[in-house]
Amino acid sequence: MADIIDGKAMASRLADRLADEARRFHIATGRQPTLAVVLVGDDPASMIYVRRKIAACGKAGIRSTDHRLAATASQEELIALVDRLNADPAVHGILVQLPLPPGIRANAVLDRIDPAKDVDGFHPVNVGRLSLGSEGLLPCTPMGCMMLLDSVIDDFRGLKAVVIGKSNIVGKPVALLLLERECTVTITHILTRNLPDLVRAADIVVAAAGAPGLVRGDWVRPGAILIDVGINRVADGEGGHRIVGDCAAAEMDHAAAITPVPGGVGPMTIACLLANTMRAARQQLGLAAAG
Ligand code: NAD
Repeated sequence: MADIIDGKAMASRLADRLADEARRFHIATGRQPTLAVVLVGDDPASMIYVRRKIAACGKAGIRSTDHRLAATASQEELIALVDRLNADPAVHGILVQLPLPPGIRANAVLDRIDPAKDVDGFHPVNVGRLSLGSEGLLPCTPMGCMMLLDSVIDDFRGLKAVVIGKSNIVGKPVALLLLERECTVTITHILTRNLPDLVRAADIVVAAAGAPGLVRGDWVRPGAILIDVGINRVADGEGGHRIVGDCAAAEMDHAAAITPVPGGVGPMTIACLLANTMRAARQQLGLAAAG
């Protein structure tokens, strides 16, 4: 049987460590690390994500402030809010929940966030730092993927990694992080030819396509490690639905390790958002990195 990499347990340990750090930060500075969460409109999935992020902040001793704008808000209103949060020294991290309503250009808004407060790691300055391999705030899902891999791999050097999906929020940054660890990385996407053969050669597979059960058991070589980023809602045959990943999990007994869906990458993504907020707060107040 493949080992199950328990992202929920890892996220909970990380949140405990951050709660401890947040306490020490408070003692040292008299302030609480603070994340501003911005939600525009009333997309039900976004509302759930925002609620989860705010609840996770509470558990890790991170203060969150909640900023809601109507779906009809203009780009100028949203940018004015980002500017206020940028200028507020009590706010250390800013998260603008995506997607934004049609009519608002997400890039214009994300580019406006102070890179020092960009806890999602989407600002071009942080993306540039990632591609240069220099210090910056990393996007949360790729950062979580690497922590999950770190729990089962000692030495990444020379390993073959295949990343399925080339989005700016998952595929590309996770590929850069793997490259930084000296893996030989292949980035694939919907038009890639011979995807199963490419996956068969891989020691590490990161599946971030949003295609339920795409990666089949016979694509995966014995001993490979699978990070399943996909979150797909599928009918459960009884009138309801269930959440499945991009890997056909029941066919992966011969893999060395796999992340479950749910309970793998998802909880680590949220924990990494908290870790980035803590880090941004320390950097803004000139405190040394936590050990
Ligand atoms: P996206 O739609 O922006 O990108 C998907 C990528 O996968 C594209 O590059 C596309 O070319 C590729 N792709 C799609 N179908 C494919 C196929 N059949 N074969 C090969 N490549 C294929 O998606 P995204 O935002 O990167 O998210 C990907 C998945 O990860 C989604 O299921 C999303 O819900 C999930 N996700 C999970 C988390 C988390 O915290 N666990 C965070 C972000 C995204």
